[in-house]
Amino acid sequence: MTTAAAEPLRLSYLIKAGAVHSMAGPAGLSYRAIGLRGAEIVATSAEPDGLDDLAGDGTVVVEAGDLTVLPAFADSHEHLMEASRNLMLVPVDRARSVAEFTAIVSAAARAAAPGEWVLTSMGWHESNLAENRLPTLAELDAAAPDHPVLARRGGHLAVANSAALRAAGADTADPPGGKIGRDKEGRPDGVLEGGAVYRVAAHAPPPRRAELAAALGTGSAAYAALGVGTIREAMITVDDLLAYTDAWEQGLLSVRVRPLIRVGAELSADQAITLIRGLGARSGFGDDWLRIWGLKFVMDGGVEGGALEQPYADDPANSGHLNWDPAALTRVCTEAVGRGWRIGTHAAGDRAVRTLLDTYEGVVAAVGEQPPWTLVIEHALLSDPAQRERAVRGGFGITVQHALLWNMGSEMVVTWGPERTRRVNPLDEWLAAGALLAAGTDIARPFNPMTNVWGMVTRGTKSAGVQGPEHAIDVATALRLYTAGTAALLGESDKLGSIEAGKLADLTAYAVDPLAADPDDLAGLTPAFTIVGGRAVHDPDKRLAP
Ligand SMILES: [Zn+2]
Repeated sequence: MTTAAAEPLRLSYLIKAGAVHSMAGPAGLSYRAIGLRGAEIVATSAEPDGLDDLAGDGTVVVEAGDLTVLPAFADSHEHLMEASRNLMLVPVDRARSVAEFTAIVSAAARAAAPGEWVLTSMGWHESNLAENRLPTLAELDAAAPDHPVLARRGGHLAVANSAALRAAGADTADPPGGKIGRDKEGRPDGVLEGGAVYRVAAHAPPPRRAELAAALGTGSAAYAALGVGTIREAMITVDDLLAYTDAWEQGLLSVRVRPLIRVGAELSADQAITLIRGLGARSGFGDDWLRIWGLKFVMDGGVEGGALEQPYADDPANSGHLNWDPAALTRVCTEAVGRGWRIGTHAAGDRAVRTLLDTYEGVVAAVGEQPPWTLVIEHALLSDPAQRERAVRGGFGITVQHALLWNMGSEMVVTWGPERTRRVNPLDEWLAAGALLAAGTDIARPFNPMTNVWGMVTRGTKSAGVQGPEHAIDVATALRLYTAGTAALLGESDKLGSIEAGKLADLTAYAVDPLAADPDDLAGLTPAFTIVGGRAVHDPDKRLAP
């Protein structure tokens, strides 16, 4: 038995489980009993009855011999704010055809006040529609002739109707780092990519703060129900941070949040530096529930606009776009790191990864060696061995999201071609090179981490079959990237990422032992309960009730 303190303890929870996989250290010790007091894990034992002496009147004893306990998942890159906002938006993610999609938009327009914007959930994808294509401008015009409609799909693409384009004045030139789609006659066709999405979205009214805080409560509970205990919130505005602070103050959050504040590519270097100087805070500010991780930059597009070394498979004239001038980004990041900020930069394509490595190496040359995970590459969907070697040498961590390949694999096969799709996020090669990796989702809707674990182990996708099975890793490694990996990225390995006395009590429990099960049984596995900071945040069967 190990305990964190010498004085007698009174546990708040004593959990006796079939197995408790600590995921600590390479050997990954397992226990049969764990004791919690308040927000922390205070004791562990290899014997089911090994902690009985620590139980008292106030102790909830959880008999869970049928369950396997794991550290709660820590998602290294997800958009909880977007997922929560989606709950308040028009739910086109339910549509399974273009007709259903436009019917949902049309119903929302009829219910809206004259001229009010119709904003859809971002959590939809055309591959879920029978026609496997985006709705057109004409279809959205027919569904809502008098209301501006903006149907954002994920973070980098949207379809707008004519009223929205008019309201935004967007039928002019392409904004920096973005594209306004055009038909053969050169008229806008409603498809917006990259910076063009933000240009139009900026004209829609923002939701009210109180509504947002409540939505964060509902949204975070949906993640806790999937075994998630911490989310590194990959991009928010300063206003969003107010809503997070409201939710934190009111105790509405069911998961810990580590936000990144967006520094947009529409800013000049001087404007970006002014924004950063005005923030006042720096990385690490906050408490165990809400703590600022750092700043967020976006170097290129996604599957449609990622900056590639070789042209797109479906468009030889296109090799994607870089949003930042590398010298300007180096200057901004140098200022930020000097002020105590960590930086995460979206780089999807291999040309973006190479350019970002130039930038990060320039920052280190200017400010000196930094702790690991100070400068982070988000996604690195495509990379080559030389780039991986440079990232390892520089101590630049990588956040990886199998969910992107899972969700958009069939789209990647078309835009990037089959050979590049197979090479998306080769976790085995990153690990062999000695890279710092942390796993997450980036899918802006509650997504089962176990589906991701299954995906990392099988390279399976939603609709593109198995992509690059040679890059698969094992279950224990996948779980570690999703727990201890993210804890290291957060700089909180002393408190998060494994089950050990002295760490925060963030746990989740399953009816199947993931380390012993057939990986195919993991894809749909959901937890029996989740505890975050000693609080039962998901307990549908009242296993944690006194
Ligand atoms: Zn993201």
